[in-house]
Amino acid sequence: MRRIVFTLPAAILSLALFVAPASAQVVPVDPGTSAAGKPIWGTGQNLPPLAATVPYFVGPGFAPAVSDYYASGKALRQQKEIAAAAHAWVGNWVDDNCGGKPRSCKATVVFDVDETLLSNYAFYKGTDFTFDQDGWNAFNEACKSPAIVPVRSLYTRLRESGIRVVIMTGRAEATRSWTEGCLEQHGITKWDRLILRSPSEAGLNADEYKSGERAALERAGYRIVASIGDQVSDMSSGYLRAGFLLPNAMYLIP
Ligand SMILES: [Mg+2]
Repeated sequence: MRRIVFTLPAAILSLALFVAPASAQVVPVDPGTSAAGKPIWGTGQNLPPLAATVPYFVGPGFAPAVSDYYASGKALRQQKEIAAAAHAWVGNWVDDNCGGKPRSCKATVVFDVDETLLSNYAFYKGTDFTFDQDGWNAFNEACKSPAIVPVRSLYTRLRESGIRVVIMTGRAEATRSWTEGCLEQHGITKWDRLILRSPSEAGLNADEYKSGERAALERAGYRIVASIGDQVSDMSSGYLRAGFLLPNAMYLIP
């Protein structure tokens, strides 16, 4: 059975940021229709925006709470919890299915980029948690986004254990050179594939684009054990065995 293991739903955090326990407990959550029928675990929030059909940015009204969530270390703590859960789950799956040889069985973990391997918190804080494409491009072209350390560590540990790592981002193909450069600058290297959104995929929503690319990977023989991302759309609509959802209190991309 395919399983999606999520932690911490994204975006609108009205209740989430104010009542989330200091140490999150992983519980079942409802991610909305896009991943219906998949068992998903999160950290207790069950927020309507997870089922939203249009992108959402949390905006200035929540800015103090969002800032506190990141600046206080809560986000980092939950990122660590999720990375640890992913590491354990993937290790167990490989033990059960690959006979200790993850490379030859093409066991693969897919990583998103923004708010997964790299953090744009500083950019969004500067815009009161709204979106500005030109500003975002400038921020990322200059590689001002730091690595999210627990996820980078997970990436490295999995890769060094023989698991294939694929990076899949909604960023446009046109950003490849500076996306690659920034990942490498932060020590995120040696991926099997770095997949960016091609011009022909520009009209797809994130769920359609990412599940389509996972389907293509599976057709090519990759066995996608898990997808790690900050959006349900990083792991909805199949072609994976588990999803791990990182916190994103700033925006939602369906
Ligand atoms: Mg992301």
